[in-house]
Amino acid sequence: MPLRFYNTLSSRVEEFQPLEPNKVRMYTCGLTVYDYAHIGNYRTFIFQDILRRHLRYRGYEVLHVMNLTDVDDNTIRGAKAAGIPLRDFTDKYINAFEVDAQLLNLQRPEIVVRATDHVDDMVKLIQVLEAKGFAYRSDGSVYFSVRDFPGYGKLAQIDLSGLRAGARVDSDKYDKTDPRDFVLWKAAKEDEPYWDSPLGRGRPGWHIECSVMSMKYLGETFDIHSGGSDLVFPHHENEIAQSEAATGKPFVRYWLHGEHLIVNGEKMSKSLGNFFTLRDLIAKGHKPTAIRYLLASVPFRKPLNFTFDGLHQAQQSIDRLRNFRYRLTMEKFPAGESSELQERARAARQAFEDALDDNLNTAEALAAIFDLVRDANTAMDRREFHDSDRAAFLDVLERWDRIFAVLEDNDHTKLLKFGFIATVEKSRAADAVISKEGGSGVTPNGYTSAVLTEALADEEIEKRIAERNAARRRGDFASADKIRAELLAAGVILEDTKAGTRWKRK
Ligand code: AMP
Ligand code: ZN
Repeated sequence: MPLRFYNTLSSRVEEFQPLEPNKVRMYTCGLTVYDYAHIGNYRTFIFQDILRRHLRYRGYEVLHVMNLTDVDDNTIRGAKAAGIPLRDFTDKYINAFEVDAQLLNLQRPEIVVRATDHVDDMVKLIQVLEAKGFAYRSDGSVYFSVRDFPGYGKLAQIDLSGLRAGARVDSDKYDKTDPRDFVLWKAAKEDEPYWDSPLGRGRPGWHIECSVMSMKYLGETFDIHSGGSDLVFPHHENEIAQSEAATGKPFVRYWLHGEHLIVNGEKMSKSLGNFFTLRDLIAKGHKPTAIRYLLASVPFRKPLNFTFDGLHQAQQSIDRLRNFRYRLTMEKFPAGESSELQERARAARQAFEDALDDNLNTAEALAAIFDLVRDANTAMDRREFHDSDRAAFLDVLERWDRIFAVLEDNDHTKLLKFGFIATVEKSRAADAVISKEGGSGVTPNGYTSAVLTEALADEEIEKRIAERNAARRRGDFASADKIRAELLAAGVILEDTKAGTRWKRK
């Protein structure tokens, strides 16, 4: 079966055919950088990461552009409250976003761009809209005239009969399904950043930013545009209006929208205050790969309810897969191979690939791999698994993980790298800095000291395990048990398997 996506524009599942046979051009609306992203935002970014990984898996070259909204109502308000220039304010959250993205194994899009670096291009596009009669000026601002663009409402399926002549809106985000003339260029206000331009002194509206940055790097018509479902209206509807009015060409061919992460029936959002950032969850001891797994586990068009129980289960699922891979690599099996098991591996690969081709059905892709693990474990226990079956199973796991990216046990290394945890010595040094700075609780990396915990380095753990094994070989079980207990106290759990001693952090 070919690759298929649900296209919001046609309200149907469609076969995917990019404009150019082997290349996909796609745009994703990135973060509005006025605060740390919450894991609802990351549900959408992980869905988009799985999309780009699967396109690449299927052999397409992907040109992926993501913007960072670093000027809008929220960022301006935040910079003002912090009493610092807009650029300095947004820099902080862009840096934090880059760290989070690496922790969550998000592949970096080929092009990541900031809105404030494209203001001249925005002015030019607004001038084109004015020249073509789709925009008008009022009180120093420029507005898009919705009634002059016949296709308005086609994405969100908005009924224009409620459109009141001259009704316009200045805010970037406004009510669902209320069609109004929206602002393209906002007249400068006191105390707000502005740009001098032929349109007057002011700043761009939010929607024009994405039309400009997407078309600049991807062309007037491109393949995929995506975001969370809250962006369908007004943001994406307005992007279509601006772009198609200016170029006279179709803007985007496939619109993909992800459903929300919800908490007790409500969308996780800043305004409701029901959110967790990635660093909130890290501080509670959760691992980024478990968070990635949880957020990827439900197909993108279904709502996902966040619970700590779900997060705990996600961690257990990852442990199960990692343990299986360890067994597959380390255990001794009888020589030879079994055609039945080879066929089983082939079928599992087919099943997970088919599931992802079907509008990225991640739940089925997960089920396919767990069925395989169960069957393989049974075969191993019955001594029916052979040495030469190993490669086929490892190959399926490796392919599956090109998309899911959770098998490598690298959380600890990354958390150390980015200063969320520290080795004992480093943590003392950081504490010294904190007390010198008057106990603000913030480390030089900007992370709160609550997040900073002490940890044994991997090499230290391996060394202790080797000592324990030596003790056991000598029959000195008291020493062996003591080492196990000490490691446990430091948060390291040992597991003795047929293939050797495996360890993990609590
Ligand atoms: P923003 O920073 O508000 O522009 O949002 C960045 C991305 O996160 C957009 O694609 C939003 O649609 C998405 N988003 C915001 N809240 C949620 C949520 N609770 N669940 C899933 N995606 C979300
Ligand atoms: Zn956008």
